[in-house]
Amino acid sequence: MKIGVPAESRPGETRVAVTPETVKKLAVKHQVVVQAGAGIPASVTDEAYAAAGATIGTAAEALGAEMVLKVRAPNAEERAQMKPGAVLVGMLNPFDGENIAAMAASGLSAFALEAVPRITRAQSMDVLSSQANIAGYKAVMVGANTYQRFMPMLMTAAGTVKAARVLIMGVGVAGLQAIATAKRLGAVIEASDVRPPVKEQVESLGAKFIDVPYLTDEEREIAKGVGGYARPMPPEWMKRQAELVHERAKQADIIITTALIPGRPAPVLISEDTVKAMKPGSVIVDLAVEQGGNCPLSELGKTVVKHGVHIVGEPNLACHVAADASALYARNVLDFLKLVFDKEDKLVIDREDEIIKATLVCHGGEQLRK
Ligand code: NAD
Repeated sequence: MKIGVPAESRPGETRVAVTPETVKKLAVKHQVVVQAGAGIPASVTDEAYAAAGATIGTAAEALGAEMVLKVRAPNAEERAQMKPGAVLVGMLNPFDGENIAAMAASGLSAFALEAVPRITRAQSMDVLSSQANIAGYKAVMVGANTYQRFMPMLMTAAGTVKAARVLIMGVGVAGLQAIATAKRLGAVIEASDVRPPVKEQVESLGAKFIDVPYLTDEEREIAKGVGGYARPMPPEWMKRQAELVHERAKQADIIITTALIPGRPAPVLISEDTVKAMKPGSVIVDLAVEQGGNCPLSELGKTVVKHGVHIVGEPNLACHVAADASALYARNVLDFLKLVFDKEDKLVIDREDEIIKATLVCHGGEQLRK
């Protein structure tokens, strides 16, 4: 089969869907066409792709393949160059019904990898986890860079410097990596999440968990989440959380927020009043900014200073670690492809397979996810 890998067109997108490592494996049975320059933002040269067995081609050649591997969903111009019946694999945003309708109308069979279910068999294809891990790491780097003091405690002849206090809001994949990274830099860390198992994970990394009590069975039930993801908590619980967080935020030097609820706007966790109460020169890195932000003062794509607090609203931090983010994403894609090729390397879309069912958003002109 001819597999095309176009360069990403979305502004700021630096990742690429294949690396020489994955091309080498794909090129054993398939013809892989990588658009010239597609890997440059992720530090992969055309020569490296060619050495791994790819053909270097034009955008039209890559987009015109029977299977197209992408990072982000194609725009209208790209869709127009794709063949009806082609298979598309990428982070296609399964919650964007309009985009899915457009891909269906183009006759594509599209797999949105963000919808991979959280089951053991699918772990190696979990793009949300691989990219959130990187974003959590980078959020600490960006926070430390913006913060105008030391992260670790220092005892010097010129006096002692206190360790930075870091508050992590939302401890999923990104939050756990943020805790581990901040810990390595010597910070003192506190963290909050709605899901009960998180407490133990936070404590095992040497951070303190902010315990917001569950006062009703309903709160306890909702807090369990669904499929590993959080659900919106009742307003009474959110109010108790906000009060505790307000007090902890006053002491914090860096706050990293990562809290998300799939398919919904991000919950507001750091209110303007809380920002006003924070120390001058403190920093908020809002990883949820693309979903509306965990802080209402965050601005998409900007670092702003509000009430003396630096608020970083940089979306998609994984793009700032493009080489490793691409390497992990490309391995996720390669593992996913094992599901759609049979032993003879023929394309087979098994609509009964749990992972296929969850990720296939359109097929044969039909929109399967609204
Ligand atoms: P996510 O990106 O959807 O959300 C980030 C975090 O925000 C979550 O921990 C969520 O509970 C939290 N959150 C939501 N509302 C909040 C609020 N009001 N206050 C505080 N925190 C709030 O989540 P994620 O990082 O993708 O992963 C969530 C969980 O799924 C993790 O425990 C992860 O380990 C698990 N996971 C399991 C598998 C698997 O079993 N195959 C794969 C990946 C992830």
